Amino acid sequence: MIFSVSQQFTTLLGLLTIVPSGHGAVCFMLEETVIYVDPYSATTDYSEYPKADIIFFTHDHQDHYDVKALEHLVTPQTVFVGPECMEEHIKLEKTLRNGDSYTWRGIEIKAVPAYNIINKRQDGNPFHPKGYGNGYIFTFGDFRVYLAGDTEFIPEMATYGPVDVAVLPKNLPYTMSDEQFVQAVKVLGAPVVYPVHYFELDKEKLEKAVGKEVRLIYQ
Ligand code: ZN
Ligand code: ZN
Repeated sequence: MIFSVSQQFTTLLGLLTIVPSGHGAVCFMLEETVIYVDPYSATTDYSEYPKADIIFFTHDHQDHYDVKALEHLVTPQTVFVGPECMEEHIKLEKTLRNGDSYTWRGIEIKAVPAYNIINKRQDGNPFHPKGYGNGYIFTFGDFRVYLAGDTEFIPEMATYGPVDVAVLPKNLPYTMSDEQFVQAVKVLGAPVVYPVHYFELDKEKLEKAVGKEVRLIYQ
């Protein structure tokens, strides 16, 4: 049952359940409302997951936009939100560019940059050029969740705090190294952090590096 891997948080908009759902995917349940980000069927069996009211995409790479995952989760009422690169794949209720904000059912969503600075493809282009994809800051009343998307540690993170929960990717060359991950955790000041998008992870080393005041929750 999916609730075995969930955590609950009290917010001004009601009880928020966060379910890390494989790779970069997260399911948020705010009372009866079900929100997904980047559902991905290669790592998760969504047949027991609740249907989506809204699905956010950070970008259209195949590990973030996955039609098979959507088959399990989408109803005729489900709406989609994402950056411009998603427009050719799916009809968006709302396109969000870096810096745009959107309010949906009382939840405030801000799209923020997600990009590579150091790691590039062989042709010299970054794996994630600035402006292509989004991270998101969800504000559930008084409770703020930053979901970084595919990004390295970027200077903009210093302006996002304080956040209550951070969902941060960790793997090279596409996202953050261990060192960048720790830098991001420190700058954001979130007491609860979900490492995502990783294939290997040295829990002991990472926990020591982020310090006792940060709780790391694994998928
Ligand atoms: Zn990507
Ligand atoms: Zn990815």
